[in-house]
Amino acid sequence: MDGNHGIGVNDGRSAELPDSESRKQPCVWSSSPGHGCKTDIGKQIFCNRSLNMKNIVAVGFDMDYTLAQYMSETFETLAYQGTIKKLVYDLGYPRELLNWTFDWNYMVRGLVLDKKRGNILKMDRHKYVKVAYHGFNELSKEVKVGTYGNTLVRDSFDEPDYALIDTLFSLAEAYLFAQLVDFTDGNPGKFQEGVDYARMYKDVRAAVDLCHRDGTLKQMVAKDPKRYINEDTAIVPMLEMLRESGRATFLVTNSLWDYTNIVMNFLCRSNMADGSNNFDWLQYFDVVITGSAKPGFFLEENRANLFQVVPETGMLLNTDNGSPVPQVGTIPARLFMDDEKHACPVFQGGSVGHLHKLLSIESSSQVLYVGDHIYGDILRSKKVLGWRTMLVIPELEKEVKLLWESRDARKELQILRSERDCIEDEIHHLRWSLKFKNPDPDAKQNLSSELDKLELERERVRLSHQEAQRKLHQRFHEPWGQLMKTGYQNSRFAHQVERFACLYTSKVSNLALFSPNKYYRPSEDFMQHEFGILAYEPAEV
Ligand code: IMP
Ligand code: MG
Repeated sequence: MDGNHGIGVNDGRSAELPDSESRKQPCVWSSSPGHGCKTDIGKQIFCNRSLNMKNIVAVGFDMDYTLAQYMSETFETLAYQGTIKKLVYDLGYPRELLNWTFDWNYMVRGLVLDKKRGNILKMDRHKYVKVAYHGFNELSKEVKVGTYGNTLVRDSFDEPDYALIDTLFSLAEAYLFAQLVDFTDGNPGKFQEGVDYARMYKDVRAAVDLCHRDGTLKQMVAKDPKRYINEDTAIVPMLEMLRESGRATFLVTNSLWDYTNIVMNFLCRSNMADGSNNFDWLQYFDVVITGSAKPGFFLEENRANLFQVVPETGMLLNTDNGSPVPQVGTIPARLFMDDEKHACPVFQGGSVGHLHKLLSIESSSQVLYVGDHIYGDILRSKKVLGWRTMLVIPELEKEVKLLWESRDARKELQILRSERDCIEDEIHHLRWSLKFKNPDPDAKQNLSSELDKLELERERVRLSHQEAQRKLHQRFHEPWGQLMKTGYQNSRFAHQVERFACLYTSKVSNLALFSPNKYYRPSEDFMQHEFGILAYEPAEV
């Protein structure tokens, strides 16, 4: 089945919907298996770069926050609480911290922490700081510009002085950092000398890191996955659809085998009746690589050893680039890849070269990889390796719905903006006439009073525009606004999505809504002069 039935909408443009009811339910026509049906706009797959799925021979998936969508309210709260305990009990932070609570809605991806100054920043695609908070207090425009806008050499806003909040795993640490900044400011002397904002960030980072590695998080998820991970019953049908279409499927995750098995059992609903885990989910993949150490995994010069994992025991066996190595002693060779017990081999470590060999990939452009992390999953795989990429952005579902609901407000904002521009141009012309055209006293009087009126009008429009912009910003997110925008510019996060993700969507299983042979095409590129022509009204002669 070809992917181009109905109205071509893979660029996310909404089809014109006929009745008033459908205006309330934004949706677009898709080429899903039940072709011709409408797809909820929040479930669209958006395309930055043309991608013909017919050329894709293998589709790979990241696990955490890609296949497995964690619930921030439980999972990130767990990370937050675990981190606080480590700060207090291991690093000697004040016990008051144990009473703190976490607002999982407050932080968003794409923010940047200024470790030295204790600030949290949102910037646009040119790296201009547009929203800035010190802890939880918004910086005034003057302080913001004074701090970030006046440097001769533009700051790159990268490590080591800044930290990027680019995965959903980082929301808890960003929130805790802001809390610590406020707490230190209000309680000078509470911390040992030398513990400044940057040191606090370092401690928080180390504590979060440990929570991920020492079982604080994983033990709890393992006990009750449904408390922490959203169920998505469309994942198995999506994997089956891809496999039936002839694609190889693979998993490359930084999680280790024991945890991967628990999460994948939950997602693929392959638990036994008594809740114990089995390996049935492996039937949906051709190769599984755990403990992959992305993004290093994507580097061709990476020489990491590839081990085969024995699913039953978690035991690691040496391989010769993925092929069985004759084992001295008692380990039977049949545990290796031809093992009829499991549908697909499981590995740990290795690098992309191993994976290509295991899947007989001839060209890296034949691989589509779906991940949630621009740096960990997408940037290197796309930029260095040339894999095609799809980024999962769960925030997108809400964002596009709000965009739809606020379309009238956005039109109004554009009208106010161009009204302000026109008034400013008129004021400029009047001032010019007054200064250089030597008008007679009567004309001068008229021009001056016209100018006064226009200046009042400009102020009125400026305030209306400012207020409308503030309301729209808060409608998306009270402190941080729209994820993909800062004012009229794309946000830094949006810019990265545009540069590195061929496709992006809110949920991995949205892939099941479209044909596995779909030709994803972006909308036409537009330069500013082309927009200008669309809005141009020729002057009357
Ligand atoms: P993936 O997204 O499937 O590749 O897996 C991400 C893995 O990285 C999960 O096992 C997370 O628990 C782990 N992880 C996320 N953040 C951190 C960290 O800060 N330190 C150590 N591990 C982390
Ligand atoms: Mg991930």
